[in-house]
Amino acid sequence: MRLTSICAAIAMTAIAATPAKADPPRVIASIAPLHSLVAGVMAGVGTPDLLLSGSVSPHDFALTPSDARRIAAADLVIWIGAPLESFLVKLLDGAGERQLNLLAVPDVDAMPFDAGDDGGDTAGIDPHIWLDPVRAIAVVTAVEKRLSQIDPENAKTYRANAAALSTRLAALDEAIRARLQPVALKPFIAFHDAYGYFSRRYGLRPAGHFAVDPQRRPGARTIARLTDLVGAGKVTCAFVEPQFDARIVTAIAADRPLRIGRLDPIGIDLEPGPALYETLLKANSEAIAECLGGIG
Ligand SMILES: [Zn+2]
Repeated sequence: MRLTSICAAIAMTAIAATPAKADPPRVIASIAPLHSLVAGVMAGVGTPDLLLSGSVSPHDFALTPSDARRIAAADLVIWIGAPLESFLVKLLDGAGERQLNLLAVPDVDAMPFDAGDDGGDTAGIDPHIWLDPVRAIAVVTAVEKRLSQIDPENAKTYRANAAALSTRLAALDEAIRARLQPVALKPFIAFHDAYGYFSRRYGLRPAGHFAVDPQRRPGARTIARLTDLVGAGKVTCAFVEPQFDARIVTAIAADRPLRIGRLDPIGIDLEPGPALYETLLKANSEAIAECLGGIG
């Protein structure tokens, strides 16, 4: 037998001897923090795909034809819901079990935006559930259940991963609580209205925000009210976000004793993957503790 035929024979034997193993399900998660949690649940089985990568904000996103093809080919699309990713609504209409809308999961406990002082345009469901680590545990549970339904062969792995991840998230919640407890009562201004769940969880006092929807410029009334708060010394800290133009914040800070911190709601500078979620939440907590904990 010639060498090539021997190799071919060995190769064929190897193929025949390996039991057919199903491909892992093709899963797409919409934003990086959600993708991170899904990656944790799928560890050892497969890697989810991330729909919005880079510096794109879900508040300012349009699907390309190639995104639409990726979504059509997915076994499961995991998204927050229509108030955040309106661009997915049409594509996922009628997708049934092929999509997991997390705002619709009862244990995620989605709530309306806090009405606040600026009333009117704060109606509607607040989509920023992922910024609360306790809600993230409910997300992990919902993801584990749905993955186990569509891929029962790997259900045991999903369950074990979800349990381990939930334990880590509970520890993260405790660590954040301890870090923020000393500054909890100090008012601050957020860039956009993304921190309602987070603030309620840790007893923080958001005094206002420049925008509900960061795509819309803040109105004159909002700017006047926030400037008054800063001028009266009621707020000593305001946050910018890397996705959006910070000039409005620096203009209000001019000549006033206002510290400027930075909060990133989706982790644009971070490497997508299982570690992103915890890194993001810790960085934001640290930014809040530092900005509010400063002297002055
Ligand atoms: Zn937002």
